[in-house]
Amino acid sequence: MVAGPDWVVVLDGATAPPGVDSGCVHNPAWLARHLGGALAARLSVEDERPLDDLLAEAIKTVCELHADRCDLANPDSPSATVAMLRRRGDALEWLVLADSPVMLDVEGEVRVMRDDRVDHLSSYTLQAVRAARNAADGFWVASTRPEAAYEALSGRIDAASVRRAALFSDGASRLVERFGTLDWDGLLDLAYSAGPQAVIERTRAAESAEPDGARRGKRYDDATVALLRL
Ligand SMILES: [Zn+2]
Repeated sequence: MVAGPDWVVVLDGATAPPGVDSGCVHNPAWLARHLGGALAARLSVEDERPLDDLLAEAIKTVCELHADRCDLANPDSPSATVAMLRRRGDALEWLVLADSPVMLDVEGEVRVMRDDRVDHLSSYTLQAVRAARNAADGFWVASTRPEAAYEALSGRIDAASVRRAALFSDGASRLVERFGTLDWDGLLDLAYSAGPQAVIERTRAAESAEPDGARRGKRYDDATVALLRL
């Protein structure tokens, strides 16, 4: 996560399946760190430019950092989800690329901004997911293609109408999306009343309690929650 006086970004690097050659000597944490740095540098000074432009440029900058050492055409190159929120004048602007949600409480109505294209693939074999990644009829993530930024969902809203705002990595929204122990309103309430640590502790408890046979994907996932005071 990176944040400034009027913006915040949550990035979550995706872990490659074991044995997959990413063509990259770096790992997803490296990608998320450098993407976060490149975004922070732009968000700090370029407040007139749209979020998707800044994200596209940040992806391009990170590509340039490893183009000489790594094969950026490899479809398994490290990737990250991106959730961004920025206050600009009277508006609150949001952007989500992949499945880390931004949640807004708009005059009491909780809205979830989440790109769920990855949940609607026709197949989840290694090959199918690889082919769908950063493809027109698949799903988009921040990796080696700057144009992915323009596939993100984004919007703006009158800041005065927003009572609460929060960003979650997809590992931090599992109480809703994987375990179903909370709905979205409940997740936002828990985060605000008990704090991000409580969300993460309850997520870890649910992950630990999950029977082996019921598990899809990884047991534990990185969890980040950013809460805004407006
Ligand atoms: Zn690399």
